[in-house]
Parts: sequence; structure tokens; C-alpha cells
Amino acid sequence: MRANPGTLVRLFPLPTFSWLSLSFTLILPLLAVASAADNIQVFFSPNGGCTEAVVANLGRATTSVFVQAYSFTSTPIAKALADAKKRGVDVQVILDKSNITGQYSSADFVAHANIPTYIDSKHAIAHNKIMIIDCKTVLTGSFNFTKAAETGNAENLLVIKDEAMAKVYTANWQAHLEHSQAYDSGSTRTAKTANPRK
Ligand SMILES: [Zn+2]
Repeated sequence: MRANPGTLVRLFPLPTFSWLSLSFTLILPLLAVASAADNIQVFFSPNGGCTEAVVANLGRATTSVFVQAYSFTSTPIAKALADAKKRGVDVQVILDKSNITGQYSSADFVAHANIPTYIDSKHAIAHNKIMIIDCKTVLTGSFNFTKAAETGNAENLLVIKDEAMAKVYTANWQAHLEHSQAYDSGSTRTAKTANPRK
């Protein structure tokens, strides 16, 4: 990673009593989503563009999207994953066991979109919130892929464009996949699962 903390300092100038600084204060939420370095962006919720950043990056995926999620209820993110799958992108999702509920969930939505979906029950909590896109870009942070994380919580999301970092995350994702079980949504997925790369 080549994060440049100095850039962040420049993004948040010390306030002075002037109309210029007032303007900075008013647009600070927008500046908070600006690039901290050429290859790293940071977003903050609530309502700081985290969901939009996830959806936009998924929209640019061309080869693969590997996901680890703790809580996953975001409809736009689930839809973006399904859209990527429709484009032929190799999308695979590992979820914490808390996503197994008796009710229809986004986990069911992605599973029904023929996206290989797995449950990692090996840990007290499978708490990673990660997307690895095209083995080049890593999205991670405290931001869960949920509506609450976008609208109500204080969270952060980093978008890291770094192939070496993506490689490290992919190896860790693969290690978790090895001890995860296929998610049984209890309905339509059973006949059409198949992703030969599992
Ligand atoms: Zn695991």
C-alpha cells in the first residue's frame, strides 16, 4: 500500500474564521470521499457514498468478485453482484453463519442469482467485510453490506487498488472458502449451482 497520510491532512484543513473555511465545512462530507492517494479511496457512512462506491466498483468488474461478509442485507449491493454474475463475472460469496435465517434474505437473493454462496461457521464470528474485484482491487473496512451501515451507522470503507494486496486478500479468502459450506437457500439454487472453480 502506498497510503499518504499527508493527503488526508490536506483534505481536512484547520478551520479559520472565513467564508472560505465555512465553505470547506459545508462541503466536508463530499471531501471525505475524495481520494486519499492515487490508489486508495476512503468513504464514511452514514450517507457518505459507501454503498455507491461498492456498486460502482462491482459495475466495473470483468473477471471475478470474491466476497466475505458478516451481515449482508443491502439490496443494491446484492443486485450489483447479480448483475456482475449475469455479465459472466466469477462471483462467489462467503457469509457468516448469522445469515442463515428462516426468512428470505439477500443471501437467498444472491444464491438464487446462481452465485455460489457459502457459509463460514468455523469462527465465533466471520467478521470480514471484503470484496476482491478482478484480483486487483480490495474493498474493506468496517462497512457491512447493509442498509443500516449506509444510513444509520458510523463506518468506513477503503477501496484499495493494489494487486499485491489483492493477492494477499485472495489467499485469505481462499483459506476461508476451504472450510466453508455451500449455502442451502432451500429452493431454486440446488439444480444450478455449479461453479467449477470451487
Ligand atoms: Zn473461515
